[in-house]
Amino acid sequence: MNFRMRLVSRGDPLGYDPVERHKKIEEIVVRQRAGGDLKKYYRFRHDRWYGGIITADCAGCGLTCKFCWVRNQSILEGRQGGELLSPDEVTERILRLAQRKKINRVRISGGEPTIGRQHLFQLLNALQKKRVHFILETNGILIGEDKTYAQELALYPFLHARVSLKGCSEEEFSRLTGADPKGFELQLAALKNLVQAGVSTHPAVMLSFSRREAIDQLYNTIFKIDPRMHSEIEREEVILYPHVREKLQRAKLEYYSGHFPDQLHRERAEGPIAPEADG
Ligand code: SF4
Repeated sequence: MNFRMRLVSRGDPLGYDPVERHKKIEEIVVRQRAGGDLKKYYRFRHDRWYGGIITADCAGCGLTCKFCWVRNQSILEGRQGGELLSPDEVTERILRLAQRKKINRVRISGGEPTIGRQHLFQLLNALQKKRVHFILETNGILIGEDKTYAQELALYPFLHARVSLKGCSEEEFSRLTGADPKGFELQLAALKNLVQAGVSTHPAVMLSFSRREAIDQLYNTIFKIDPRMHSEIEREEVILYPHVREKLQRAKLEYYSGHFPDQLHRERAEGPIAPEADG
């Protein structure tokens, strides 16, 4: 069920540098170690998104989305919670759950999986012979900043990237994340880099805060990046958990549509719809 709420926030036209912030968070959630960098994870679970998926929730994200469903800000900042795990340990936990649930679809969620590049690629190396489908749920900032990231991801044909765009324009991106508006260009660049590198990918777009004209404009932009991707755009809407509603009210952020959790869980039981998190 969708509904409207009228609170207004214009956001800060300037903001933090999203690339710098990802790198700072990386210093907190990743530890370099010979034989495989360690990264913080705080949960392993089975979830019903995508028709059933094993999910490893990592700590740390370089954006600060005002609608983020992750309850604990200190987990997103990597300050508290989570356990430092090697790629082999993460692989082992994922595969154990996958075997128990008889599911071969896996993802990293909870935070931003592209933070800790070496850790991610070692994890993909460990998973690649295990006949799983890996969904990389990312905000795309680090892939947009460096196209070699996308080129390296292209070496893993069992991987699909879901790039979650935070709004439909630079202005919306900044209002929703508090980051420099130019970060939105990095999200679009991530889509371009992934398409050019030949990585299976699709965009998900948070539309709860967008007006019709902005949505139309973004659809045109995505069509120019790749006409095929235009029909694969996933429409995301905010999930109105009580703590998310509190965050939105504190931020005085206007939203036009959203899902109530109880309704969402009914829909989710009936089939796959937009996942509740990305990086
Ligand atoms: S919604 Fe995703 S990108 Fe935004 S802060 Fe939360 S984890 Fe990070």
